[in-house]
Amino acid sequence: MNCRGCGYPIIKFISLGQMPLANSFLKKEQIPLEKKYDLSVGFCPKCYLAQLMDTIPPEELFSDYVYFSSTSDSFLKHCEESASYLSKKLGLGKQSLVMEIASNDGAQLQFFKNLGIQVLGIDPAKNVAFVANQKGIPTIAEFFNFDFANNLKNQKGITADLVFGANVLAHVPQIVDFVKGVKKILKSKGSAVFEFPYVSGLMEGKFDTIYHEHVFYFSLIALVNLFKAAGLELYDVEITPVQGGSLRIYVSLPGNFSISENVKNLVAQEIKNGFDKIETYQRVKEGAIKLKEKTLELLEGIKSRGEKIVAYSAPAKGNILLNYFGIGKNYLDFIVDKSKAKQGLYAPGTHLQVHLLEKIYQEKPDYLLILCWNIITEVINMPELQEYKKDGGKFIVLIPQIKVI
Ligand SMILES: [Zn+2]
Repeated sequence: MNCRGCGYPIIKFISLGQMPLANSFLKKEQIPLEKKYDLSVGFCPKCYLAQLMDTIPPEELFSDYVYFSSTSDSFLKHCEESASYLSKKLGLGKQSLVMEIASNDGAQLQFFKNLGIQVLGIDPAKNVAFVANQKGIPTIAEFFNFDFANNLKNQKGITADLVFGANVLAHVPQIVDFVKGVKKILKSKGSAVFEFPYVSGLMEGKFDTIYHEHVFYFSLIALVNLFKAAGLELYDVEITPVQGGSLRIYVSLPGNFSISENVKNLVAQEIKNGFDKIETYQRVKEGAIKLKEKTLELLEGIKSRGEKIVAYSAPAKGNILLNYFGIGKNYLDFIVDKSKAKQGLYAPGTHLQVHLLEKIYQEKPDYLLILCWNIITEVINMPELQEYKKDGGKFIVLIPQIKVI
């Protein structure tokens, strides 16, 4: 397998084995038809890009696409703050155009629009683009790539002051073509801003962020190389707490902005921490194996006392963790999740059924295994779980370290 960024042969550093798609919940009759695909990540020693060994065609990944951008209050708050922050930082005004790639139902763009800035969304899911257009956020239902950007510029004369993308850069296998498209559609003084989970999460033991949709696990040094090769310059970076640690990067044509101290400092820190060395990535696997052993020991102990364990929430990362550790009906009775879209369905791989939260009070488990570790405090303080806690119910978190609360 060759690097999707520079073409150099990549070295595999972790394999999670054959895995189902982490977001594909099943109806009972779909269970026997469930497909699994290899899930392994490699590292490019030349440009430092960590990436999946094999990818699945996007049509297959996003065929059952359910949009949910506008459903979470904390997410909407983040969108509103981003719009206000970016428009000030980049000096956007009424004449400016913000183009968002993978704009979903317009959750982010609506806040730019509220500031009087012109907006255009690009999203491949037709149903989602339809919803956005209904809400007054002009949205084109297409995959973004170089040809698309080239046509938009040549045929409609559209160029952007800001190209924005949250959780899209890490999802596109043809990344070089994608980045060339970004360069094509940017105004000469425009900026592109991308947000995505930071590769440091893997080094901290959050290996459950590896799934088929995530093609890339970015370090800053890898991105500096990637954009440079496409004739762009990464000039600023910020670390945000989204998804347990994300980067927000700023890119423009070379020479428009001076390279910030943030970039220089983070590059130096990454080199110091060995993000340019395969050995650093190989330790991710060792950490995951150790955590698996300790976890199974803990769960064995609980089961041997005849106690009950139920999983709380079924995010993609939780499904990856359960499947990789071999935790299913052998340890867990079922899963509870607040998301109506998942209730009644069966979780990928483990085929545990997803129930309403109320089921906790009927079945009275002794332990709740929290799979959404990134919002652990929020979960433990949820009003719906206070009675469970009062009755002596405990919580287990596995990532980044095992904790029983
Ligand atoms: Zn490479």
